[in-house]
Amino acid sequence: MSRHNRITAYIHMDAIRHNFQVMKGNLLEGVKMVAVIKTDGYGHGAVPIAQMLEPYDYIWGYAVAAVSEARQLREAGLFKPILVLGYTFSEDYVWMAENGVRPTIFTAEMARQFAEAAETASAQVPAADASACTSFCTHDGKESKYSADECRHFPVHLAVDTGMSRIGVADTPEGLNTALEIAHTKTLTLEGVFTHFARADETDKSAALDQMTRFAAFCDRLEENGVHGFLRHCSNSAGILELPEANMDMVRAGITVYGIYPSEEMDREKNRLHPVMELKSHVVYVKTIPAGTPVSYGGTFVTEHETEVATIPVGYGDGYPRSLSNKGSVLIHGKRARILGRVCMDQFMVDVTGMGVQVLDEVTLMGKDGDDEITVDELGALSGRFPYEFVCDVGKRVPRVYCE
Ligand SMILES: *Cc1c(COP(=O)(O)O)cnc(C)c1O
Repeated sequence: MSRHNRITAYIHMDAIRHNFQVMKGNLLEGVKMVAVIKTDGYGHGAVPIAQMLEPYDYIWGYAVAAVSEARQLREAGLFKPILVLGYTFSEDYVWMAENGVRPTIFTAEMARQFAEAAETASAQVPAADASACTSFCTHDGKESKYSADECRHFPVHLAVDTGMSRIGVADTPEGLNTALEIAHTKTLTLEGVFTHFARADETDKSAALDQMTRFAAFCDRLEENGVHGFLRHCSNSAGILELPEANMDMVRAGITVYGIYPSEEMDREKNRLHPVMELKSHVVYVKTIPAGTPVSYGGTFVTEHETEVATIPVGYGDGYPRSLSNKGSVLIHGKRARILGRVCMDQFMVDVTGMGVQVLDEVTLMGKDGDDEITVDELGALSGRFPYEFVCDVGKRVPRVYCE
């Protein structure tokens, strides 16, 4: 017997694998991928997804936004490199160095602080044990990737700002000086250099191509100044799908992992992604109310005629937006049932007149039922939310169920 939950997020692992195949189809042989699983895998669950991806060789590692997210992955026994894409606080540097968590560095001060922490971390390792060096430059008996010599060179990535004005050294002569200082910081190895596209999801790729060109030139200048062997990476999901010339050594796959397109402007025919998350619920109450009856807070909807109303036990407390009030719909028996009145914190009502709906019938909030489908793009557009935001905001109290 199937268990009923107020709401369940079904996460289709086969769709994630399909989406990686689609992305891989756009990459040149040998280009590595970073799986961006920040915000708990864009709301889908970082740990189960990383566990599935861990065996794939073409996946270099994982990218997160916060050290707490990196900790969660290490605690779950995931060993691939982890890159923290944003700023990290120096209090976390010793732990990061010990655990192969790569900081994004963009000031000489950050590099000095990380190097100091890395030295603290390696000082805890007896010299005689150097042969036992592991991929994280710790000595806890885990698989080894670095040789004993390399062991004390702690990998970091440098961010270059070519158009976001967010983080990163500028692609100017001063920025190059800072980058060289970072690259030459003792104890550190410049494992990667990256930039981030601001507009790769637009039909007109000229802004993205300009960023790419400036980034490549900056990397060339680093090499001319004797810095070698780093991974160049600039592509996000939009770049992976539509800017093959920006592949370089590695790409960072984010929203496309989850089967969502970076924007409305992306070509859906060229790359057919499969949505990964479905949101399902069950009807908990059905009743018929006469004409002239208000529904939900504020009485913003009043029936015009006798109406069969079903109550759905989901609300904005689950991340189902209140802005869908009187606008959105759900699928029941493969048919649309529109939302009546305001979405409450934990419940809302839909019109099921003549649909033969009964208590415990399945409700699709997002996903497929029969021939119809409610997409994240539809929900995003109706609720005034960006699709990325929509999935990130699916609440903590919504259980994720992983299926094949
Ligand atoms: C979030 C993020 C990504 C992934 O972006 P998508 O649009 O989801 O592919 C890549 N790189 C950086 C630096 C990011 O912050």
